[in-house]
Amino acid sequence: MNPIQEQPADTVARLRATFRTGRTKPVEWRTTQLRRLREMLTERGADLVESLRADLGKSPAEVQRTEIGFTVREIDHTLDHLAQWLRPEPAPVPEHLGGATAWTQYDPLGVVLVIAPWNYPAQLLLTPMIGALAAGNAVVVKPSELAPATSAVLARLLPEYLDADAVAVVEGGIPETTALLAERFDHIFYTGNGTVGRIVMAAAVQHLTPVTLELGGKSPVFVDRDADLDTVAARLAAGKFLNAGQTCVAPDYVLTDPETARALEPALARAVEALYGADPQASAEYGRIVNERHFDRLSALLDSGRVVTGGRGDRATKYLAPTVLADVDPKSPVMQEEIFGPILPIVTVADLDEAIGFINDRDKPLALYAFTESTTTRERLAAETSSGGLGLGLPLAHLTVSDLPFGGVGESGMGNYHGRYSIETFSHRKAVLAAG
Ligand code: NAD
Repeated sequence: MNPIQEQPADTVARLRATFRTGRTKPVEWRTTQLRRLREMLTERGADLVESLRADLGKSPAEVQRTEIGFTVREIDHTLDHLAQWLRPEPAPVPEHLGGATAWTQYDPLGVVLVIAPWNYPAQLLLTPMIGALAAGNAVVVKPSELAPATSAVLARLLPEYLDADAVAVVEGGIPETTALLAERFDHIFYTGNGTVGRIVMAAAVQHLTPVTLELGGKSPVFVDRDADLDTVAARLAAGKFLNAGQTCVAPDYVLTDPETARALEPALARAVEALYGADPQASAEYGRIVNERHFDRLSALLDSGRVVTGGRGDRATKYLAPTVLADVDPKSPVMQEEIFGPILPIVTVADLDEAIGFINDRDKPLALYAFTESTTTRERLAAETSSGGLGLGLPLAHLTVSDLPFGGVGESGMGNYHGRYSIETFSHRKAVLAAG
């Protein structure tokens, strides 16, 4: 059979048949798949460097760091710990069952579906897949059609390196995803926006399939008056303008008091120049907007405040300058939805209380960041707000810690993954009791 012409129902049936043979269950099969994936990334990394340049203008260094290197680290971490994570865990038994033993063990779920977005089109497809394979499942992966070059590379390479009867790549957009979602999976892992997240969850209901939804939203940054503003600006700019701001956990907007805002503005302009030079359009390190639709959406947000730096773009090449906006009204367009692009608005608040109120008045963010020297402020933010993750003094970095769960809460998603949390997500923790 030619898998390219396969219908979704046949793909799922083929993978389910493989799963039923028990082939994916032994740890050796799982680690072999992970090692082969690692080989793919090392031997064919150049194909991804090229495709990510074509899709998003990513520099080779950025691809190495945020796509290939990130994924290889996740593989290595999983290979190092998998046997330990899978060990059955004994549970104490009550007295009336004297002599019995009890434990929990992780069972693979079966056939899982991973639907990936376009912004880190390799990392966000491969990292969940690593977890699904490590947990002993067969996997259907659906790359984003909005990163077509990377989708094509993954569709070509994955079946070549991995067990093609247990891992299938289905390319395509809405019709293909809709057809896939009509099938019965044992878990669906979706990364993308909340609108499609709802479509995925509604489809999953038909089969009572559990879902993980890795969504987005506006991730705020609180800057305290005691923070070192040159450090703040350097770290904020690096986190915000990576991948031209198209990062789910990118700092979305800054909340700070008016005096700190005034001092932060020139510091941010300097930080942008330090990263990308006086003309970021000429910098090989600065990415491009994924398509014209997003370019137009973002361009319409540029007059939501006073331009501190940037503020211009070139539609033909989808270049949008790293932009900082000051004096931004919370009611302005840039503050209504996740920006998902290189625009950083600064909104002023009187103090920490107002900042906490501002955050809690809105959807629970995927990440909350704060720059402060004050332990009390850190503790208050941790205790009085809810977000998928909390980054103190360094945006983005929490998701590179494989021992931390990565995921959202409320509108920013449900469930989490990375490292051992991926095993939890893609397994059933079975309770076992053996009479004495
Ligand atoms: P996208 O448009 O690439 O969509 C993601 C997937 O959904 C694609 O595979 C696409 O084919 C599929 N899809 C789109 N419309 C569909 C429909 N009507 N029915 C069925 N499937 C459909 O990606 P996106 O949503 O533009 O990605 C950006 C969003 O993702 C942002 O909100 C961002 O914050 C979020 N995001 C979250 C994470 C995270 O890890 N939490 C990571 C990256 C992006």
